[in-house]
Amino acid sequence: MKKKAGVILLMAVLAAVMLICHSAGQRLLEGVKKTSETSGRAGRMSDQLVVLDPGHGGMDCGKQGVNGIEEKEVNLKISLQIKEILKKENIDVVLTREDDDRLADTQRADLEERVSIMNTLKPDLAVSIHQNSYSDAGVKGAQVFYYEGSEAGEEAAGAVQEKLNQIDPKKAREVKANSTYYILKNADVPVIIAECGFLSNPEEAELLAEEEYQRTVAEAVASGVVLWLNGK
Ligand SMILES: [Zn+2]
Repeated sequence: MKKKAGVILLMAVLAAVMLICHSAGQRLLEGVKKTSETSGRAGRMSDQLVVLDPGHGGMDCGKQGVNGIEEKEVNLKISLQIKEILKKENIDVVLTREDDDRLADTQRADLEERVSIMNTLKPDLAVSIHQNSYSDAGVKGAQVFYYEGSEAGEEAAGAVQEKLNQIDPKKAREVKANSTYYILKNADVPVIIAECGFLSNPEEAELLAEEEYQRTVAEAVASGVVLWLNGK
């Protein structure tokens, strides 16, 4: 009898040990999974990330079109279209804003927040979307800016400019280096600013208000981004 009780006790102890080991193993596995999910790129769908930055928002309307259209709205609509296109290309996209609100109460703090998102997420490329305006209403066409001295920025700007110029070669412009714009100066990642058109030009302001043209611009920017990402 005593011997039988001893065997039963031993089996119970063994079963308990196996149970504890199993749950510890599960916990360990869960821990590893969690770490890989939170350590940035491991948990993402693709290994390429683009931050899209629709300029302005909220009480900061940006430039006003001759037809009354507000820059902030055009910027957001084009950015949302670019996001949709890039996602289909299996590129991860984060927008600095997805609605009409700006990111902080002052323009300076708003720009700081945008740069902070870029520097925290460390995307392959950050693209700020804006619309231009000029005292001469005849001036039109898209123009892409990059940080002076940034080779990656210049190449990415060139790829996007080339695609934007194809929309209407008569309006073709050249990329431009800049060393003073806050975002270009302070982002630690390759960053470009795409000024998609002039809201001071009646013809272009009309086009930029149309969903179809916004889509055309978004396709041009997205294909330039894809071209650069694949070539780098
Ligand atoms: Zn702007």
